[in-house]
Amino acid sequence: MKLILLGAPGAGKGTQAEVISQHLNIPTISTGNIIREALKSGTEMGMKAKEYMDSGKLVPDDVVIGIIKDRLAQDDCSNGFILDGFPRTIPQAEALDRMGIVIDKVIDIEVADETIARRVSGRRVCPACGASYHVDYKRPAVEGVCDKCGDTLVQRKDDHPDTVRERLHVYHEQTEPLKSYYAAQGKLTIVEGQEEVADTTRLTLAAVEA
Ligand code: AMP
Repeated sequence: MKLILLGAPGAGKGTQAEVISQHLNIPTISTGNIIREALKSGTEMGMKAKEYMDSGKLVPDDVVIGIIKDRLAQDDCSNGFILDGFPRTIPQAEALDRMGIVIDKVIDIEVADETIARRVSGRRVCPACGASYHVDYKRPAVEGVCDKCGDTLVQRKDDHPDTVRERLHVYHEQTEPLKSYYAAQGKLTIVEGQEEVADTTRLTLAAVEA
């Protein structure tokens, strides 16, 4: 199955993507994680992306389209994949269509902006493996330590309040129009994000199975 997860930054796409990935045994492809990896390795692409990312802006379409094209050509994508954080603009969605990739379903996780601002400020991530936690909703077994690889958890620079406001603005302006784009193709299912992650997961899996 080829799935897209839509939703504002901090709506919980990453967490839901992980669950679906295990459930269907297909990889999650997060452009945000790929860009952060490139930044960590000091590649030219990573360096170029840094200023956009740090200020809450979108990285230019041609850069992320190139990233996705390379990633989807890899063997582990042959049985399907989950796109988390791509596409984020109409030109990105059009590029996916032009690549001949037929998406089966688009699941949009809806969460109010105020809830997002609260959630994102409590988010902590593992700089080594990209796993995501929350100080209230998804705590690691040992505080401040990644369950998966044992590295020390950090707050993402772009999760600071001012940057989050900018990211939400960018989301409403550039990414939200994708809902109409995929609704017009009859592919969109909206999942209302719940207070409890497990409840959102139940609704998301039902949408995947529908
Ligand atoms: P994320 O981890 O998905 O929230 O992405 C973090 C940041 O990476 C975003 O705020 C953008 O600066 C950049 N980014 C990730 N995916 C995309 C995309 N599809 N288009 C443009 N920029 C992206």
